[in-house]
Amino acid sequence: RVRPSSYQVTANFVKKLLPKHREDSHKGDYGTGIVLGGNTNMAGAVKLSSLAAVRMGIGVLHTIVPNEIKNTVQNYMPENITWAIDYSKSRSSLNDTAKVLTKSDAMALGMGMGTKSNDQFFEKLILSYKKPLVVDGDGLNLLSKLPKGVIKSNWVLTPHPKEMSRLTGLEVSDIVENPVEVCKHYSKQFNCTLVLKGASTVICSPKGIAFINTSGNKSLSKGGSGDVLTGVILSLICAGATPLAAAISGVYIHGLSSDLLLESQNYRGILPSDVANHLPKAINSIT
Ligand code: AMP
Ligand code: MG
Repeated sequence: RVRPSSYQVTANFVKKLLPKHREDSHKGDYGTGIVLGGNTNMAGAVKLSSLAAVRMGIGVLHTIVPNEIKNTVQNYMPENITWAIDYSKSRSSLNDTAKVLTKSDAMALGMGMGTKSNDQFFEKLILSYKKPLVVDGDGLNLLSKLPKGVIKSNWVLTPHPKEMSRLTGLEVSDIVENPVEVCKHYSKQFNCTLVLKGASTVICSPKGIAFINTSGNKSLSKGGSGDVLTGVILSLICAGATPLAAAISGVYIHGLSSDLLLESQNYRGILPSDVANHLPKAINSIT
């Protein structure tokens, strides 16, 4: 029997991938996650990932950010626990957060963190962290400068074509013209789950099996959409999904949330935070 080399992601498929939970659950069943990123002029990315993670049902959320933005991130929502770090002092920052890092079930890393004076911090962190890691945004840009052997099979990378170009050295045009082939090739090469974002996002397993998303619309073409997706995937991993299942179902539900919003309003004014806040309705619409 010939197996198809790529699958379409549909509501029925995603329904089966979602982690199941009991009525008598407690927060431990939904996991403890970390969102780490942000910089002086960039607090929004971390806020959006955190919002999406809690809207998706994460049990406990810790946010680790530079001291300068700690208060604004802390005050954004009462459901997160916030810790301050200094990227230029990697040793003390990693020491200060060692307990949180060890206790966590997964981490989303890199949103809005910039790429200045934090490469040592980034490298030390990824080498020591053993749990599933979702790497996005500037985390991917920092990863581009490292040997790809540091990538572990329980990671999810979520590049858009430009970040993918930095990671691979390919031209953006080659990536957008052959997203499925490119995603298959590099998921195998990196040996991790790879989410190549776009109007139809491709998700590939570490073995190069491709899943093509069918949800989402142009209301997502604005800054912050990817940060919401990162939080969704983090939350699903923390609740018990495998990194691959979390990536497939996360991409679908993120897109679906924007599709539901589009039924009642114009795409221009649908905000990434609206998409995050609509996630519970999106989940209900497929379960
Ligand atoms: P980022 O560029 O990191 O903010 O990520 C953008 C997110 O929005 C990704 O999840 C894309 O797949 C999604 N997105 C952007 N534009 C579209 C579109 N026209 N149709 C569907 N999804 C989109
Ligand atoms: Mg992004």
